[in-house]
Amino acid sequence: MNNGKICISVCSDTADELIAQIRRAEELADMVEVRFDCLPPTELDAALSQIERSDIGRPLLATYRSPDQGGHGIGTLSERKAFWTDLSDQFWGGDLEEDVFQASTRLKNKIASFHNFSSVPDDIDNIFERLSGSKIIKIAVKSDDITDTISVWKLLERAKTENKQIIPIAMGEAGKWTRILGVAHGAYLTYASIDAGKETADGQITAKDLIETYRVKDLDKNTKVFGVIGEPVSQSLSPYMHNPSFASAGVNAVFVTLLVKNIDEFIRRMVKAETREVELNFGGFSVTMPYKQSIITHLDAIDPTAEKIGAVNTVNVVDGKLLGYNTDAHGFITPLKAMFGDLQDARVAIFGAGGASRACVYALKDEGADVTVFARDISKAETLAEELGVRSAQLTTDNRQLTTDIVVDATPIGMKGPLENETLFTADELAGVKFVYDLVTKSTNTPLICEANKAGIPALGGIEMLLAQGAKQFEIWTGQEASTDRMRDRLLARMTGEK
Ligand code: NAP
Repeated sequence: MNNGKICISVCSDTADELIAQIRRAEELADMVEVRFDCLPPTELDAALSQIERSDIGRPLLATYRSPDQGGHGIGTLSERKAFWTDLSDQFWGGDLEEDVFQASTRLKNKIASFHNFSSVPDDIDNIFERLSGSKIIKIAVKSDDITDTISVWKLLERAKTENKQIIPIAMGEAGKWTRILGVAHGAYLTYASIDAGKETADGQITAKDLIETYRVKDLDKNTKVFGVIGEPVSQSLSPYMHNPSFASAGVNAVFVTLLVKNIDEFIRRMVKAETREVELNFGGFSVTMPYKQSIITHLDAIDPTAEKIGAVNTVNVVDGKLLGYNTDAHGFITPLKAMFGDLQDARVAIFGAGGASRACVYALKDEGADVTVFARDISKAETLAEELGVRSAQLTTDNRQLTTDIVVDATPIGMKGPLENETLFTADELAGVKFVYDLVTKSTNTPLICEANKAGIPALGGIEMLLAQGAKQFEIWTGQEASTDRMRDRLLARMTGEK
C-alpha cells in the first residue's frame, strides 16, 4: 500500500451534469478535480453555488485553465484571476498555472502546474525550478514514445531530495504506465477519468481500471513490472489477463502497456542494468508486433523452441539477464489438440505468412501435421515454408478449392476494422473441411467462424490461443500455474464491456 491518491477529474458543459459526476466520483476517488474550464460562462455560477450547497465527501480540487493551457472554456486572464480570488475555501485547493498562481491568497493548497500538450520540453528541470516555490508541483507533458517519459519520471527523485510533492504526468499512450506506477514511486496523486470516453487528458485511465485492474494503491517500489512492448499496444488485452492473475496468485506484480517506437533505445535507456536511466524493476515483457524478431539481438539467452521459430513473444528478466521464449506456438496448439485430437498427418492449410503463422507452422510440424502455407505474396509463404520445412502456395481469389482437413486463418481478415465483415471462405467453399481455426481474437464469432457454423464444421476462435499463450507466460514469469478460468472471465468481461 502506498500513500498516493486517486483523483478523478470531472468535466461537463452543464452544472447539473458536473455535480452528478462529482457525486459518482466521490464513491471511487480520494479527491475530485472539478474542471470549471469545461463549463460555458453561463453555467459557472450555477455550478459553484450547487457545490457550495452540497455536502461532498471528498476533497475538491478546482481547475480553471485557458484553452492554450488545456481548458475548454473561454475565460480571459482577468476572468480567471477573478475566479481564483473569489473561490470559496470549501475547496481543498486549486491547480494553478503560472499566470494565475499569485491570484489566490485564500486557497489552503495550491498546485503549481505546467502543461505541454505537444512534446516533452528539453528544459523540464528549469520548469521544475520555476514552480518550486510551491509545495506541490504538477508537470504534465506529451510523450510519443516510451523513452520520452524518462525525464518527467526522473522528477520524482528530484522532488524527493528537495522535499517537494510532485505529480509527474507523461500524457499520451506512451505515458500510461506513469499514471499506473507513479503513486508507488512517490507521486502525490494520479488522475483518473470517471468513465471510458470521459478522459480530461490524453492517456488518462478510468478510476475503475486503476483500482480494479492495476491495483495502483497496492503497488510499491518492490512491485515487479511486466508489460507488453510493441507499436501499437493501445488495444492490448494482456493487462486484463495478467493483472487479475497476479492478484489472485498474491504476486506483487503489475502488467502495463509500453508503447515502444525504438526497441534498441528502450532496452538501452530503460531496461539493461548497465545503461538504464530509470529503475522500474522490470520482471519481463510480452513482445508484440513489430518486435518479435528484433528483440532477439537484445537477449542474453533464447529458449530452443523460440530459436527454431525465429520469434520471441516473451522475455523473462532474471538477475538482470533477458531470457527469450515463444509461447504463441504452445498457445496455438494446446486448444487445437484439445478439440481436434491427434494431428499426425492431418492436412492443414494455414493462411497468412506473418509472425503468428510462423509459430503455428512450427507447432503443427512438431505434431506431425502435413502443412501448407498460403499467402498473397508467394515469396513470403515460400520463405517461411522453406525455413520450417513445409509446403507453400499462392493465395488467390479464383482458386477456392480446399483439399484440407484443417483451415487456419492467420491473417487479420475478420478483425475489428476495415476487414471486420470479410471472410476467407464461405460455407460452400469450406465443404469437406473438418475443422476451422480463426486466430482473430473477438468475443463474438468472426465471419469465418459463422461460415463454419453454417457448414456444420467445428470451429475455434482466437481467445483460447490468447489465453493459453498468456497462461504459459505467467508460468515463465512467476513459476506458478495460471488460473485460466479467472483469466478468461476477466478477459471476456473486458471484451464484452467494450463492444
Ligand atoms: P502479421 O505478421 O501482420 O501477418 C499477417 C499476415 O496476413 C501476412 O501474411 C499478410 O500478408 C496477411 N494478410 C493481411 N491482410 C490480408 C488479406 N486481406 N488477405 C490475405 N492475407 C492478408 O500479423 P500476425 O501477428 O501474424 O497476426 C495475424 C492474425 O493472427 C491477426 O488477426 C492477429 O490478431 C492474430 N493473432 C492472434 C493471436 C491469438 O493469441 N489469438 C496471436 C497472434 C496473432 P501480407 O504480408 O501480404 O500483407
